Amino acid sequence: MNKEKKINLSQDFRDKIDPKSQFVKKNIPGVSKIVAIASAKGGVGKSTICANISVASAKRGLKIGLLDADIYGPSIPDLFNITIKPTADEKNKINPIEAQGVKLMSMGFLIDKNTPMIWRGPMVINAIKSFVNNVNWGELDCLFVDLPPGTGDAILTFAQELDVNSSVIITTPQKLSITDANRGIEMFKKTNIPVLGIIENMSYFLDKNNEKNFPFGKDGVEKLSEEQNIEIIEKIAIDESFDQCSEKGIVFEDLSIDIKEKFIKISEKIFN
Ligand code: ADP
Repeated sequence: MNKEKKINLSQDFRDKIDPKSQFVKKNIPGVSKIVAIASAKGGVGKSTICANISVASAKRGLKIGLLDADIYGPSIPDLFNITIKPTADEKNKINPIEAQGVKLMSMGFLIDKNTPMIWRGPMVINAIKSFVNNVNWGELDCLFVDLPPGTGDAILTFAQELDVNSSVIITTPQKLSITDANRGIEMFKKTNIPVLGIIENMSYFLDKNNEKNFPFGKDGVEKLSEEQNIEIIEKIAIDESFDQCSEKGIVFEDLSIDIKEKFIKISEKIFN
């Protein structure tokens, strides 16, 4: 005889143990769309690309915000060379810091640069929620979200709670990065967030004869694009002008012409 007792869960209880059933995806008032920039793997240039897409979009006259959701390893303060702290208004809402025409918010603005974040998941989620709800984003054409690497808590919070319109995946041509990018795409599929496309970063470098060299491999991203049926939005070269920017903060004008044009094109694709 089957001794297992079937338990009928009340809807109320089911909602408590299965948070999915009570998710109502929220918009941020005043923000027309939210685009997540993700890589699944660290060190592929995701924050650099996200920052430059944001700046390129602002240069095109759009109202742009950039939320650095990487609570454990925020890079946006360094990328924009910001050393000041944000202020709060009379309602205790944080005013984002503006640089290069982009409204910025990052955990890095609030903590000392050398302080390691040793928060557990729920605290990270609360920090992200407060960056969404307690920041004066104002009217924005787009809020770009620089997601942390991986497929963990922070990303799920965004995916499940916010009405994220689309995502862009950043990967290098290296196998390990592509495997993780694939994981990232699968995660967005599961959370019903459309993937607009893939940006291949550090794709090649131009030698002194202007020939392309492919130190990290050549066809991996094409294969991923075919298998997932997702377009490659752009291929960004290894370019030393990024390094200058990371030294003194992004100055879009200081990027090489080719790279600047590519970021403008990427922005046009995201907003067309
Ligand atoms: P992630 O956000 O993926 O961890 P970052 O954006 O912090 O990566 O970039 C890591 C480093 O790589 C930075 O020093 C950045 O300047 C550099 N970098 C990123 N993309 C390029 C590129 N296309 N060419 C040269 N350096 C790059």
